[in-house]
Amino acid sequence: MRLRNITGSREVIAESPYVVPEAELFDCPGTWNNIFGNNQPIRIEIGMGKGKFIHTMAKEHPEINYIGIEKYSSVLLRAIQKMEAEELPNLKFIRMDAEDIAKVFGPGEVDRIYLNFSDPWPKDRHAKRRLPSKEFLARYDVILKKDGILEFKTDNRDLFDFAVEELEPAGWKAQVITYDLHSDAALMEGNVMTEYEEKFSSMGNPICKYIICR
Ligand code: SAM
Repeated sequence: MRLRNITGSREVIAESPYVVPEAELFDCPGTWNNIFGNNQPIRIEIGMGKGKFIHTMAKEHPEINYIGIEKYSSVLLRAIQKMEAEELPNLKFIRMDAEDIAKVFGPGEVDRIYLNFSDPWPKDRHAKRRLPSKEFLARYDVILKKDGILEFKTDNRDLFDFAVEELEPAGWKAQVITYDLHSDAALMEGNVMTEYEEKFSSMGNPICKYIICR
């Protein structure tokens, strides 16, 4: 998702109390519970887009701390606007490329990772940029606690098949795999729709999901 460049979005982000300053990110490993001021588990969404999913999750689960990560300022701005309309103490944002994720969280500091409708990067030479690739799984392996899980949803079947193939060589295994999430009543319990999920499921696209662990 790339919105047109919104003038002043970088300035708004730099001043927002909801965003952890970029200059401080590499000092953060091991300190996230201090940043929230409590000992609640920390769950992150990588590539949160406009933040509907993570804002709803944080609202529904005040006993969990959430961090939304987004690469583009113009997109993050929309998530900040949601927080301005409804402030939540257990939600923070980071503007960064997730390639550096293992420099921002300490070993085992994250309780759960969400990837929702990640960019497909369809060219083979860009496979390493896909958020469920084995290169990214190796980074998640560092920051995710030992018994932590990663949940991934997408309507892109090619990307999902790629993601499933990456698991074994990367040392991960699937607890759950579905190729039609919205037809599975048990898995739909507590499902929070993302912006893309609403859009693509309303077009009739089946939604794939896996839940993985090591
Ligand atoms: N998760 C949202 C949803 O389901 O509605 C947005 C999906 S959108 C297709 C993917 C988002 O991931 C975009 O906003 C994009 O900027 C962000 N993204 C892609 N690669 C990223 C990366 N390496 N680090 C951080 N964000 C990234």
